Amino acid sequence: MNKYSIYVRMNKKGASVDIRASGNTHTGMNRNNNEDAYGIFPELSLYIVADGLGGHAGGEVASRMAVDIIRTEIGGASVTSDKEEIIKQAIQAANSGIRHKAEGDSMLHGMGTTVVVVTINADKAVVAHVGDSRAYLIRSDIITQITMDHTVVEEYIRIGLMTPRDALYHPSRRTLSRAVGTEDAAYADFENIRLESGDVLLLCTDGLTNMVSDKEIQQTVSELRPDAKSITGRLIELANNSGGIDNITVITLCML
Ligand code: CA
Repeated sequence: MNKYSIYVRMNKKGASVDIRASGNTHTGMNRNNNEDAYGIFPELSLYIVADGLGGHAGGEVASRMAVDIIRTEIGGASVTSDKEEIIKQAIQAANSGIRHKAEGDSMLHGMGTTVVVVTINADKAVVAHVGDSRAYLIRSDIITQITMDHTVVEEYIRIGLMTPRDALYHPSRRTLSRAVGTEDAAYADFENIRLESGDVLLLCTDGLTNMVSDKEIQQTVSELRPDAKSITGRLIELANNSGGIDNITVITLCML
């Protein structure tokens, strides 16, 4: 276990929100290693969750590399540059770094990772993702999944080749259609959100969402906000109580 909680004061001109941030990761009840990684970087108002994939030690290496490279790239970018462009380049740098590392070590061959990246500036959040790690917005008592999973079945549903009902039982329902480090380029999707006081942004890996329903996530958030640390802890506990078949990672961002 490796916990992180912080209170971030945003001192920007115009509309702003104060954030209570908390992250944690857990190996779960079924696996021996944790291939998830996360990073909370208050000085950059940057939050990252990554879920590694690939045999041997590859998953762990890829997810950690993604968090570190994205943090370094965003930290080194000019503050005046376009936020989406900075994140796009940072994810591309992570893609190249992971590929390069995998090429030099047969034990790491084929490794890759999902990422979900959030930056917040005043009351504006930019959410970028590749893969099936998710961002949710909980506003009042309504939960909205901000990210659309980059899985093969979701892409089929999007173009009308499959219904959501068919997808539930499809043997390839967990196969990713996009990842960081597995192809020459990684294509992120972007969402922009105007934050309001009371909002909760939640970043998580599929170790949470395969075990805990959206309804349970919403109820937990509604009950415990703005205590970000308690929300993170309770959600991981719920996933483990339901079997914890995968690694579980959660970052909770409560807007005060
Ligand atoms: Ca996972």
